Amino acid sequence: MGDVPPIELLNKVRPVALAAIKQGSATHSQHARDLKSLMSSAQSKADDWFAPVQCSYPGCSKNSIKNSHSIQAAALRKSLGNQLYSPIWSRGEYALNVGLISAKNASLFPGYCVTHEDAFEFENAILLSTPRDDALQIMRVLHREAWLVESRRVIADLVCTLIHKIFSLSTELNFLTQEQGKDLRAVLDACEAYVRLQERMQIRLMPTLRRVEAFVLSKSEVSPDWLFVKDLDDQGFSFISTITLETKLAPLISITLLPNDGNSRVIATIEVDFDGFLPSYVSQYLSRETIASTLRKFLEDGTLDWYASECWWDSLAPQERARIESSL
Ligand SMILES: [Zn+2]
Repeated sequence: MGDVPPIELLNKVRPVALAAIKQGSATHSQHARDLKSLMSSAQSKADDWFAPVQCSYPGCSKNSIKNSHSIQAAALRKSLGNQLYSPIWSRGEYALNVGLISAKNASLFPGYCVTHEDAFEFENAILLSTPRDDALQIMRVLHREAWLVESRRVIADLVCTLIHKIFSLSTELNFLTQEQGKDLRAVLDACEAYVRLQERMQIRLMPTLRRVEAFVLSKSEVSPDWLFVKDLDDQGFSFISTITLETKLAPLISITLLPNDGNSRVIATIEVDFDGFLPSYVSQYLSRETIASTLRKFLEDGTLDWYASECWWDSLAPQERARIESSL
């Protein structure tokens, strides 16, 4: 699960889809015309991953700008420097590796319209001081997750439809070899599993997001009982949100760890049984552990949404770096 489009799915289908379009065009098949338009939708969605969408701020219907941040770039720069290590997608290799990116390009998503970019009052002060600041911070992280989930699902859906079309066309023209059919079925299974996962994630993400949005809109300054905030006197990296689901942690939990004027602030929320679950998670991973070991734990739990300073990454033993990269 990463901050990348599922291009590998599209890539596996592309050659046989192009061949099918060629075959079908010769016979003026409707399936071939459908295939062509599906291919072009999937390709343009993959190419224009950051295309503007509707502003994520609750109640707003304007178009978003392309480059909202889920964590303020100034805070990343101040705490970690201009260059940050993060999992990055290599288009050429179709692989994830840990590489350097600039703070300016970290945590981007097409999030908010010009007006609502200004809703994050703490942006300039680079300091979170009120429960509303904390809720706004976690809201933008959840908005980014929601955008990722939806955008990936759209591509996976298109690839599923593409494969079904190829099968329909092959029923007419009988061009697929047995092996090609088997390969396509395997990709179709992967796509369908992916879509189901995204749907489950969406279902679990939304109640948490709606609760956070309602609090933000209420403008209350009383900290709600689902918002957990802890300041840690530690530096060296920034780690921003993950949604961890159905892997090692049963409930959906969102944790943001970010620099906050000399401390690292941990903000967390969870969908159910907050009083029972979160304190035990936090005491397990945050109270007795160092931030560095917490980061490693989160990496193992599967987030790709993290940023580390050059000096922290360089200080790791080569086998530790290799272990983190292999967990991506
Ligand atoms: Zn807006």
